[in-house]
Amino acid sequence: MKIIMLGAPGAGKGTQAKVISEKYGIPHISTGDIFRANIKNGTELGKKAKAFMDEGKLVPDELTVELLLDRVGKSDCEGGYILDGFPRTIPQAEVLTEALAKTGDKVDFAINVDVPDEHIVRRMKGRRNCPACGASYNLEFNPPKAENTCDKCGAELVMRDDDKPETVAKRLEVYHEQTQPLIAYYEQQGVLRTVDGTLSMDGVFRAIQDILG
Ligand code: AMP
Repeated sequence: MKIIMLGAPGAGKGTQAKVISEKYGIPHISTGDIFRANIKNGTELGKKAKAFMDEGKLVPDELTVELLLDRVGKSDCEGGYILDGFPRTIPQAEVLTEALAKTGDKVDFAINVDVPDEHIVRRMKGRRNCPACGASYNLEFNPPKAENTCDKCGAELVMRDDDKPETVAKRLEVYHEQTQPLIAYYEQQGVLRTVDGTLSMDGVFRAIQDILG
């Protein structure tokens, strides 16, 4: 099964993608995570990507597309995958459609996690991540048991640089301009399914499960 998660930054795509990945036994591929790992490791790609990410802009397609195609070509993706944060532009979506078509394949579901902007801004303020194990929390909606400490591994939680309020506004603007058109693109392909992303984490997951079967 090949699944794409669509939705604004902070809509909860990553959180849901992790759970779906576990439940359905398919890899969770987040281009944002791949870029952040490159930044952490000080690679050339990381240096280039960071400049765009820190400003809330998209990393150019030339740096993103090859990376993604390479990743989905790995053997663990043979049984499918869930993409979180890719595609983010129509050209990216077209490249993916063409790459899949070469083997007579296609995306099975594009799940749009729908959350209004006002809600997103509130959520992003509380978003915290564990730099050690990757777990995600929200101080308001899904707080850790002990203040600022990861429940799973005990590391100190951090706020992503690009979750700072000034960057969030830019990321939302970029989302509406460049990524939202993908909703119509996948609707035309007949694979779009929309879920109400303002529900609880479990509520959203149940809605997605109903779609995936
Ligand atoms: P995310 O973790 O998905 O919110 O991504 C964080 C940042 O990484 C985005 O704001 C972009 O700057 C960059 N990024 C991630 N995925 C892509 C993509 N498919 N195309 C361009 N930029 C991306």
